[in-house]
Amino acid sequence: MPREIQVKSVLNKSKRRDDWFLDDYTFNPYSSCAFNCLYCYIRGSKYGSNLATSISVKANAIPLLDKQLASRARKREYGYIVISSATDPYLKIEKDYEVTRRALEIVLKYRFPVHILTKSDLVIRDFDLLKEIDEKAILPSEFKDVPGRGVLLTFSFSTLDDPTGKIFEPGATSPSLRLEVLEQAIGSGFHSGVSMMPLLPYISDTTESLDHMFSSFKEAGARYVMPATITLFGSDKADSRTLMLKAIAKHYPALLSKYEKFFSNSVELPAYYRSAFYRKMKAMSTEYAIPDRIVN
Ligand code: SF4
Repeated sequence: MPREIQVKSVLNKSKRRDDWFLDDYTFNPYSSCAFNCLYCYIRGSKYGSNLATSISVKANAIPLLDKQLASRARKREYGYIVISSATDPYLKIEKDYEVTRRALEIVLKYRFPVHILTKSDLVIRDFDLLKEIDEKAILPSEFKDVPGRGVLLTFSFSTLDDPTGKIFEPGATSPSLRLEVLEQAIGSGFHSGVSMMPLLPYISDTTESLDHMFSSFKEAGARYVMPATITLFGSDKADSRTLMLKAIAKHYPALLSKYEKFFSNSVELPAYYRSAFYRKMKAMSTEYAIPDRIVN
């Protein structure tokens, strides 16, 4: 059973809207994340090495969100609410707790736009509410034409290969099912796309894997594809760098020396690797005619 906690705030105003996610606000219904991705940036001693065992439900999230959004709406401070930035809004426990669903009802009540970020098929359950938000949301003036939509629905992938997904994102919906849900979202009329964040060096950022990913997303009808390189932190047993290196040693021993070299003194891949990566992504986005941003 997850713990229930009381929080002081659930709607966080972003200091600066990010070019990728267009976040004016963030809302996280849960603390920690049962999907347990080894590369997750929320990792660290706060949650322990198994994120699934440290999940908490924000028990007072709904009345608090109602109060905070009412105040923003009174001042007409409309903007995209990213759901979620530090957990997945559609964890299995959402089936029982419905914090995300009830939050969307509040979002609809105050007519805010949302950007859903998920690795789960459970989002299908809320297509009815999301449809209404898409039609009724009040957009910030700069977004009235592009994207011109009250709902952005982004599915995250670090790979499209199910066995690889099982190693690095053990609790998430399989990538193949996620791809089907992306297709359903597009078929249902949503402005939906993909974040490839992070791609896994020498595993899912190879030319063969990238061609497979871009062509699959194109076929599914993705409106955008946002790729990024990996960042790994820390040397404690619960840190992303430790967990990733352990998984690489076990499942990809031939790559271990490369990963160790890259991340021994840095949280990021070397500059030459990153610039080659982003050049390649620009070229692929052009080749497949899928924008690499929601708003270019
Ligand atoms: S789904 Fe997102 S928040 Fe959850 S563990 Fe994976 S990267 Fe972290």
